[in-house]
Amino acid sequence: MEERIKKLRLLASTNSKRFLEELRDLIQEWKSLKKTGKKKFESDIRSLEKVGNDLFLNLYTKRAKSNDNVISAIEKRSVNVFDKGNLKLNTLKLREMLSLIQDDNTDKALKVMDSISSNVKSRGETILNTLLIANNRAKVIENAKKRGINQLRYEGPTGALSRDFCKSRVGKVYTIEEIELMDNQQRLPVLYFCGGYNCRHRWVVVIEPKVIENIKNSELKYSETDINQDTRKHAPKFGLNQEEYIKEAQSVVRNAKEYYKQERKGCMQYVFVGYRGYVITKDAGTIKGYFYHDPKYVTEAVENLKIKKNWGKL
Ligand SMILES: [Zn+2]
Repeated sequence: MEERIKKLRLLASTNSKRFLEELRDLIQEWKSLKKTGKKKFESDIRSLEKVGNDLFLNLYTKRAKSNDNVISAIEKRSVNVFDKGNLKLNTLKLREMLSLIQDDNTDKALKVMDSISSNVKSRGETILNTLLIANNRAKVIENAKKRGINQLRYEGPTGALSRDFCKSRVGKVYTIEEIELMDNQQRLPVLYFCGGYNCRHRWVVVIEPKVIENIKNSELKYSETDINQDTRKHAPKFGLNQEEYIKEAQSVVRNAKEYYKQERKGCMQYVFVGYRGYVITKDAGTIKGYFYHDPKYVTEAVENLKIKKNWGKL
């Protein structure tokens, strides 16, 4: 018996499936135990209430060899899961099981045991899947940060099984700062967990061509020869004065996730698509113009302009 309890304790922190099977076997043998054996077993079951708190976290963090950020997020979140008694070996149920064992009601005790097991198993699987995929995302993000890449595109399915949170983001590009402000309503950081538990969506790094990066990081002065005419002709469409118009044009360039090149008189120019207009710059970052398009029809407007103005991909 001593040996089996020892084994049980080891399994508690290494293999939850076998741990639960072993516990089940011990309950079945309860009736055949001698008085001292029964006493020992009772106290061990009681002490398992404490083990239950860390059991799955230990197990899954070890197996998943998880990233620190991922682990601390799931640990914080899981305090609640454990407190609700779903994931840990439910204290009340363990006590119920123990009293049934003491009453020699083995069959009922086993039923309680099985409900503890299946609950823990499905919750455990969810946590494990969630951790594994979060680890993959963490690798992508670490790698992106190392390379100084700050933009990620949301990718994955858009079918009926996906959450609205995910569907509305698939195909879109965000900065890491923007992602850190997102809320999936599951108190799991979107950067590592996307839509939350069991989410299969992923982040893909978006590499900006060097020329775009340089333009974005430049001063972005509005061309002296164009600004007065543009303020008269184009700024009113945005309802902005000259200063606001220039500022918005700069912010369109800095935040653009969609950009093209166009050749004019043998020189390369760059087009940055914004929410309600697009900006054209030269390669040193001078702004040539900021032009309005209806925010309701950005996609259509851009598609037409691509053809009409011969915009090319970078
Ligand atoms: Zn998802």
